[in-house]
Amino acid sequence: MKKLALHWQIVIGMVAGVLFALLMTQFSWGKMIVTDWVKPFGTIFINSLKLIAVPLILASLIKGVSDLKDISKLSKMGGRTIGIYILTTVMAVSIGLVLVNVIKPGNSISDTTRQELVENYSGNTAKYKAQAAKQKESGPLQALVDLVPSNFINAAGDNKNMLQVIFFAIFFGVGLILIKEKQAKPVKDFFDGFNEVILKLIDLIMMAAPVGVFALLAALVVESPSLDLFKALGWYAFTVVLGLAIMIVLYNSMVFIFTKKKPSFFMKGISPAQLLAFSTSSSAATLPVTMERVTEHLGVDEEVSSFVLPIGATINMDGTSLYQAVAAVFIAQAFGMDLTLGAQLGIIVTATLASIGSAAVPGAGMVMLVIVLAQAGIPEAGLALIFAVDRPLDMCRTTVNVTGDATVSMLVAKSLGKLHKPKVKDWDDNYPTK
Ligand code: ASP
Repeated sequence: MKKLALHWQIVIGMVAGVLFALLMTQFSWGKMIVTDWVKPFGTIFINSLKLIAVPLILASLIKGVSDLKDISKLSKMGGRTIGIYILTTVMAVSIGLVLVNVIKPGNSISDTTRQELVENYSGNTAKYKAQAAKQKESGPLQALVDLVPSNFINAAGDNKNMLQVIFFAIFFGVGLILIKEKQAKPVKDFFDGFNEVILKLIDLIMMAAPVGVFALLAALVVESPSLDLFKALGWYAFTVVLGLAIMIVLYNSMVFIFTKKKPSFFMKGISPAQLLAFSTSSSAATLPVTMERVTEHLGVDEEVSSFVLPIGATINMDGTSLYQAVAAVFIAQAFGMDLTLGAQLGIIVTATLASIGSAAVPGAGMVMLVIVLAQAGIPEAGLALIFAVDRPLDMCRTTVNVTGDATVSMLVAKSLGKLHKPKVKDWDDNYPTK
């Protein structure tokens, strides 16, 4: 018999968790059963995701940066690529922040439910308030100072310091490019292999996802038996999807403005990669198809696509960064926290860096969300709130991630005069000839 696809298994896990919890709430002892015997599995699942966060950043960032290889020869292309990648990511985070502040999905949770959630998940709100106050007291350049660790082991020893680990990984990757090829090779090979192992670990953890979401959802339902929460999740999902849709429109506009290619040309060319991204939730798995479509159907020179796309799959995740911004502010709203303008500006920086550090595999964006939450002083327990709808949102954000990579490859190719007439002509638009 054919194995059921993981996303269906997860959907079944979610529904079963909700139904099981609803059944349990009918009995006086039901809540205790769920809290004592089911919830721990959800906690273990979330912990295992957090566990791999630091090794994940090290492996994927060092590999991503060192893949830049010959900096001197590719510095022009590299500079443009990284510049546009960061620009689109910052744009995506900003769109996410504007939408979540306007729509306020977390505020549709009633005071009682919010109170319950705060009691259930954050334990001690005073602690968070104290943290927020401390943040306000620190100087304007504190975030910059905090970025540079004085000791790597200490930085890697606390999930809250993940930005420092990111700094180290980028610094290390740059060093790796600058030393002699012969000396760099064994180190690079090591990190390539290390990266593979981490990706495999994510696979293994995702195998437990149906059970994990069953436990998380069951615990959520018995501990917060209110429809409000699901209504609020609906608005949260809507906010993310709206933001992602805006990004797709933006990509098409950018392609049209800078390369004069019509949206129909761009979308037709890239759509098989988008569909694959949607069904696999992995930019890495989609990469071979993205390369083929961009080169053969969009006319990007292979020299550009083979450089821009693999790096993009590792570091350019506009959909992920938009989602992380929305999720962070949603969780803060749900916990009744007021985020200052400074904290929101901080989210722009952390979500940009966290999306760069996210591996191109299912669920990676959620692992890295921990950084954004930790830096903004938002309770990490809030992850439990959004897990229920994470998989469908992962499918949507991965589609945007891949579309973003394709867009940037077209812009870079155009700026270097490396955008040609596509080899395969499967559309009717008039392609401007050079
Ligand atoms: N699944 C996404 C990707 O592969 C990453 C994420 O979890 O946001 O692009």
